[in-house]
Amino acid sequence: MKKLTNILLFLLISSGIFAQETDWFYATMHAESAQMLKNNHPEGIQILETEENESAVYVAEEVAHELHQNIVVHGPGFIFRTDKTAAIDALHRVLPKNENILEFTIDQDVLVNQCLNLVNASNIEETILDLQAYGTRHHTKLQAEQAVLAMKQKWENLVAATGRTDISFRIVEHVNTPMPSLVMTIAGAEIPDEFVIVGGHLDSITPDINDAPGADDNASGIGTITEIIRVLLDVNYKPKRTVEFMAYAAEEIGLVGSREIAQEYAGQGKNVVAYVQFDMTNYNGSSNDIYIIEDEYTSNELNLYLIELLEHYNASGTHALTYGSSQCNYACSDHASWKENGYLASFPFESAFGQHNPNIHTPNDEFSVSGSATHAAKFTKLGLQFVIETAKSTMMSTQDFSNTNLNLVVKDKNLIYNIDHLNSKIQSLNILDSGARKIISKSNLEISGTISLQNLPHGFYIAVFKATNGKTFTKKFLVK
Ligand SMILES: [Zn+2]
Repeated sequence: MKKLTNILLFLLISSGIFAQETDWFYATMHAESAQMLKNNHPEGIQILETEENESAVYVAEEVAHELHQNIVVHGPGFIFRTDKTAAIDALHRVLPKNENILEFTIDQDVLVNQCLNLVNASNIEETILDLQAYGTRHHTKLQAEQAVLAMKQKWENLVAATGRTDISFRIVEHVNTPMPSLVMTIAGAEIPDEFVIVGGHLDSITPDINDAPGADDNASGIGTITEIIRVLLDVNYKPKRTVEFMAYAAEEIGLVGSREIAQEYAGQGKNVVAYVQFDMTNYNGSSNDIYIIEDEYTSNELNLYLIELLEHYNASGTHALTYGSSQCNYACSDHASWKENGYLASFPFESAFGQHNPNIHTPNDEFSVSGSATHAAKFTKLGLQFVIETAKSTMMSTQDFSNTNLNLVVKDKNLIYNIDHLNSKIQSLNILDSGARKIISKSNLEISGTISLQNLPHGFYIAVFKATNGKTFTKKFLVK
């Protein structure tokens, strides 16, 4: 891996004495990285515990940042932890079993193709140049906060032009960085408590924090996301699930912004059905266009779905593009924050790892390196495909999405149903066939009852119960 080729460079960096007055913090990192830092800076890091390939450490800031500047190829290479307990607990985390796996389908061709035709690389270029113009977006600098607020204004202006009221914005203040994050929410029209999220970090970093243009890392990802938003608004897209777009603070110092947000979502039991990260999208460094990162912090099933989307929409024609897969280092971007909180996460990247933009984390990470945003526009297309196909209705799903138990039995051509632990009434029941056609519709039902299926031919059907509290319960059943 690339990080081994950089060891020599790293060894050339003199080891210093780290007085207690320098800033120390807790983190987790790859065990190899922790050992390497320990060898080179015995005074600058304490390894608290190691479990398999991961170590909990207490580390001096300078030492930690040498890691991401000289050894790992992208991102910080460590995850910031608030205290010793959090660092050690992270080694022993048991990922919550995701009971709410979406059945991924592809059937929104008309809308998706309409949107793909609207993607315009020059809009992405404009966003990249706007962000680069701040000179730095280091999380401690005022410019970083200004850039977040300006991005909020830019996204709000796109919404204002539509007159819509189902879209809201949040500035998220953080505990461990002065920089805020930005969240835009399009409320789901039918299943608002299920979330589809696209994110990227807005901060930048270099050894000289005053000169950190961060055009590719990661103004390009924010430009990609901004163009997804613009196109969706242009077609007046109204998702059935809630869709959120996030621009994070302080990714470069240990995924700080995304970790706080993902933890909050998990703590509140929010059902994020899928998460996609855009971090570095505009440097065409490999033979293929998009590389799906496969590591322990991405989800196989979601990666496969992105590949299905690429096969379905981008195999040929105007929107043709090629893809490959690659791996990245520990904590290489914010998708890790979502995955470690039990959510499905993917990370499509600009090149194979190691062939990405060599200028990142330097003052040379400027738009002129790429010269156009055509590469990033391909990621906007994938993002549109992902959002439209995952945030549509659950109606064609064969899964039960809820923790509340929906029990269905078919007996003598009657559907006997019961929803356990539901303390509201059922507003509507729709029974759909495999072509998503409504065969039976009922309203104002009790939480248990019997529905006649006398006229239904043999086959699979889906019952979709909508409760007055806004929750939706679906289940597949067979009529013999
Ligand atoms: Zn980045």
